Amino acid sequence: MNVPFCVLGRQFEKYKDEYEAAALRVLRSGWYVLGKELQNFEQAFAQFHSANHCFGVGNGLDALRLSLMAFGIGVGDEVIVQTNTYIATALAVSQCGATPVFVDADKYFCIDNDKIEPAITPHTKAIIPVHLYGQPCDMEKIIKIAKKHNLYVIEDCAQAHGARYKGKLAGTFGDAACFSFYPTKPVGALGDAGAIIVNDHTAAEKISMLRNYGSKIKYRHEILGMNSRMDEIQAALTSVSLAHIAEGNNERAAIANRYIRGIKNPKIKLPNVRPYCDHVWHVFAVLCDERDRLYAFLESNGIHAQIHYPIPCHLSECYSDLGIKKGAMPHSEMYANRELSLPIYVGMPNEEIDYVIDIINRFE
Ligand SMILES: *Cc1c(COP(=O)(O)O)cnc(C)c1O
Repeated sequence: MNVPFCVLGRQFEKYKDEYEAAALRVLRSGWYVLGKELQNFEQAFAQFHSANHCFGVGNGLDALRLSLMAFGIGVGDEVIVQTNTYIATALAVSQCGATPVFVDADKYFCIDNDKIEPAITPHTKAIIPVHLYGQPCDMEKIIKIAKKHNLYVIEDCAQAHGARYKGKLAGTFGDAACFSFYPTKPVGALGDAGAIIVNDHTAAEKISMLRNYGSKIKYRHEILGMNSRMDEIQAALTSVSLAHIAEGNNERAAIANRYIRGIKNPKIKLPNVRPYCDHVWHVFAVLCDERDRLYAFLESNGIHAQIHYPIPCHLSECYSDLGIKKGAMPHSEMYANRELSLPIYVGMPNEEIDYVIDIINRFE
């Protein structure tokens, strides 16, 4: 049997009529950037999070970058970031001219709260917790530390649309929350898109200008902005994905539960699930001492797994100038060597899930 890592087409097929109607509506409207579709999407996404404001932007990286800029973070500032994340989290900090200060991960693959305070200096301005793989960070503790040291909290929700911590949605704890709608994410566009949710009106006004050339009134440019706008087609398509967020998250949770019940190989360590959290299972991450041999074994049986991520940020070539040595972040480095992501996607048939379980249980 052939088991792909992810088949985006199955999500499209499932809601084909809605996606096609949305795309056609925009094509025929004659209005393609900053229009009604984006307004409707922003309103729905803000409402979903009970947030005062939402801004659709070009992608998740821009969402992070614009949020940092809106809080005035730039040259000379430091931002605390977990090293166990997709590189975009750190790049957003660097692109603002600030310096990412990497800290290690906990046993849930998220930022290790005990490592945050030792990393704070007089230059620290913000913390970016990443709800990695769809599982929320321990937000209570993070908010407490941020308040004590007067730091902004910008949540990276790129993998955690609809995830909850103690019943409260990821993205509703910090000063701003950033989302990616890259097609594979729990809520996906059919192209690139992202969004920021924020409550503070001053920051909101700044973001709305920054994403549109620093302008509120046409051809009057008050601040140095950029061009990062979620276009009308993506807004219309992402609105369809958003309408089905619960179905998608429930379906992946059911797949994850089937894996958790079925995988019984002592060589495979199942993911730790944080208490009081609703994980949305963007990624189903197992650990294995012989990860590369497991990967090859699955491939030889037609199962396509992936590694998230083979190199932690602090050891990436682009951050070699920070001079952080191998061994500095032992948990994240261990994950880089042992993590394997199993196939999990909307529309994944039970036969595929059971086949993956069966083959993994045969690994010796
Ligand atoms: C995908 C992702 C991003 C970046 O989103 P893009 O839309 O690809 O720019 C940022 N952070 C995390 C954790 C991500 O997974």
